[in-house]
Amino acid sequence: MTPDIRELDADTRDRIAAGEVVERPASVVKELLENALDADATRVTVTVEAGGKDRIVVADDGVGMTETGARKAVREHTTSKLRDIDDLNAIGTLGFRGEALHAIGSVAWLSIRTKPRGATRGTELTVEGGDVVDCGPVGCPEGTTVEVTDLFGNVPARRKYLKTDSTEFAHIQQVVSAYALASPEVAITLEHDGREAFSTAGDGDRRSAVMAVYGREVAASMIPVDGGAKGPLEGIEGLVSHPETNRAGREYMTTLVNGRYVTASTVREAIVDAYGTQLSPDRYPFAVIDLDVPPGGVDVNVHPRKLEVLFADDEGVREQVSAAIETALLGEGLLRSRAPRGQSAPEQTEIPGEQTESDGSEDDKLDSAARPETEVGSDPASASGGRSASRSSSAWADDTEPSDRSFRDTPTQNTLGGEEATGTPTDLDRLPEMTVLGQFDDTYVIAETADGLVLIDQHAADERVNYERLREAVAGDLTTQTLAELVELELTAREASLLDAHGDALSRLGFRVQRPDGRTAAVTTVPALVADRIGSDAPALARDLLSEFVAGDPEGTVEAVVDDLLGDLACHPSIKGNTSLREGTVAGLLAALDECENPYACPHGRPTIIELSREEIENRFERDYPGHGGRRQ
Ligand code: ADP
Ligand code: MG
Repeated sequence: MTPDIRELDADTRDRIAAGEVVERPASVVKELLENALDADATRVTVTVEAGGKDRIVVADDGVGMTETGARKAVREHTTSKLRDIDDLNAIGTLGFRGEALHAIGSVAWLSIRTKPRGATRGTELTVEGGDVVDCGPVGCPEGTTVEVTDLFGNVPARRKYLKTDSTEFAHIQQVVSAYALASPEVAITLEHDGREAFSTAGDGDRRSAVMAVYGREVAASMIPVDGGAKGPLEGIEGLVSHPETNRAGREYMTTLVNGRYVTASTVREAIVDAYGTQLSPDRYPFAVIDLDVPPGGVDVNVHPRKLEVLFADDEGVREQVSAAIETALLGEGLLRSRAPRGQSAPEQTEIPGEQTESDGSEDDKLDSAARPETEVGSDPASASGGRSASRSSSAWADDTEPSDRSFRDTPTQNTLGGEEATGTPTDLDRLPEMTVLGQFDDTYVIAETADGLVLIDQHAADERVNYERLREAVAGDLTTQTLAELVELELTAREASLLDAHGDALSRLGFRVQRPDGRTAAVTTVPALVADRIGSDAPALARDLLSEFVAGDPEGTVEAVVDDLLGDLACHPSIKGNTSLREGTVAGLLAALDECENPYACPHGRPTIIELSREEIENRFERDYPGHGGRRQ
């Protein structure tokens, strides 16, 4: 049977096309907000309910539309902003495709109330399923109010893929924040479920917009960038944060091209590069960077949602942005070294398996306790082992009796607290018997098994051990420890919204957070299990955990959310400082790992162990090469 080939009806075509523009509530907000800004508004209010799934209202005091204008605006490919294709190269407005209102109208219920400046009457127009179902005069203020409800009501497949309210709102907040930072001369307010997320003054001062969106502390830390550097860009202007004011995610770097909010990974990378070693590898600054790109220097028409941009001279842009930001940071005396990012400072590399960015003395104590050479070397019973003078770079191999290094041969050494492991895990979940040979790159344990060699990533192993311990503690009665000192911290608008949505899950984890006011948080308790290690880092840690709610978008039960967070907590730099090595030796780490339900992967799925089988090693040495007559020894 041959399948029928049929033409799609106009309705279906519309909805498919609309899907290119309207992916989620945040895309609706973005289009409506861009229209308001293009309409010369001085004040825009964005109000959303249930992450924008139930209702989105964008109200502006801009130029408004006549009835004819409004009727035209909701038709396909109608725009007041572009006459023909030649205009595409010199677009001064944010929107230009003339498809947003039409697209939104075909996947939602859409209403527009609008009145041109100075006009005596306004127009109200309603679109349902892509058709204008109602249009008539109405009394309303000058400007335009667009309301969108029942988004994707007629496209269940798309509606189904929307995330939690909190995550959808986080996307909306990202877009509105970006435009609030991009257009400090416009007063922009964002409200979610009746609560104000932020409100900018519209006084034209970028720093004041940063204060509204990110808080006073961040605003105070911002350094002006005013790039006169040479390159393909005509100018670079904006603000970047002091390196000490940073976060765990990239979402606080806002990139603009000629005032338009875009995603430009090139620019984000260039910003981070400029900080060099001033930032730890997993931390990111706050930044608002506007690039003045000459006509033809950028392709803004890459994607229907117009978020991605391509630069004609990508490398040139990257270098110019980095140079401009370096100059700004240097001006504040903030850059000392030009070592590439990722090459850690000495204090980070000399400690085996250590990767914390903390400067606390608490951690310094840990560091020395965590050093395997200190531990093993201090054991008088192992001091005599002298079979490896040739491997002097490895403390374990040097100083340890063969029997001490043989994991599982000496069970009393292998378990924590000197107890033997209970339970009977299956072979699959257990590590092979192994003899530790040494350490490579201060990072990997090298061991010999019956089948070949294994490399164990200490960090990944440690994260797995931490994770399972935390999970056990949370499942039982999680003991919390009250912090002696109440540390308050300021939240960005985004963090405040996340805390509203996920405060319960955080407290299930042991982090109880008080809210003296909307944008301030104070952590009162932490999980006792990690209390000694995080100490005064607790508030910042809780704040980092909050961001993970969006990154991972954990759906469903509090349990699922908590489990997701446990994984992040176990991997957090201030937690993963060698728990197991602190408690014993490498054997201790391996024993703890062996007791894990799943010793083979870190909580985020990275492997803890790589096996190199005898066959593989032999193959690499071409031991079956005929020239050797197949001889093996
Ligand atoms: P585009 O923004 O690409 O032109 P849209 O579908 O978003 O396409 O809007 C179509 C037209 O409707 C715009 O060109 C503009 O003339 C008009 N319009 C839309 N929103 C507003 C608004 N908030 N105020 C005034 N005019 C608007
Ligand atoms: Mg538009």
